Amino acid sequence: MHPQPSSPAIFLDRDGTLHRDTGYLIRFEDFEPLPGVEEALLLMRDQGFRLFIASNQSGIARGFFPMEAVLDLNQKIQEYFKSKGIDIEEVAICPHHPEGTVEIYSRECDCRKPNPGMLLDLAKRHNLDLEHSYMVGDHPRDAKAGMAAGATGVLIHANSAGSLDKHTRLKEFPSILEFARSLRGAHAYHAHA
Ligand SMILES: [Mg+2]
Ligand SMILES: [Zn+2]
Repeated sequence: MHPQPSSPAIFLDRDGTLHRDTGYLIRFEDFEPLPGVEEALLLMRDQGFRLFIASNQSGIARGFFPMEAVLDLNQKIQEYFKSKGIDIEEVAICPHHPEGTVEIYSRECDCRKPNPGMLLDLAKRHNLDLEHSYMVGDHPRDAKAGMAAGATGVLIHANSAGSLDKHTRLKEFPSILEFARSLRGAHAYHAHA
């Protein structure tokens, strides 16, 4: 048993959810937050959710960029949001792809979304309450990873509207801001100052 009660979290996809998806983003100079993202993350924070990023980065397995470059970019993204008052506690990445070119990363894994490995690992290490948590992304595999972890999956955009079967643990919203607004008063948790 954990001595502390577990906390609800929101797991965020990175590319195409927090920033414009340029395809294998690697330079912070090319990082362009999407409209409404900062307001959305502040609302989530104010509703008592802890924030994490869970990102497939198959560009590592494909040999497009080294792990270190992704870790460096992710740190700069965390610092960017920190400067806006938003604490993203950790950025989890999956570096794998079954058809990669870099041998050590070229395999099936439990962490590449739609698999729930990144979320389960974060939940274990950070004492998170998956039942009351969300995984938000612009691709069905993000929502599926959330559902597979026992959280609620949230699909943003019309990217793939109607492609997911109706499921009680699946929500769809036209924007991350509208999702964040829907959280107000919608759950039993309150932020503890
Ligand atoms: Mg995405
Ligand atoms: Zn993986």
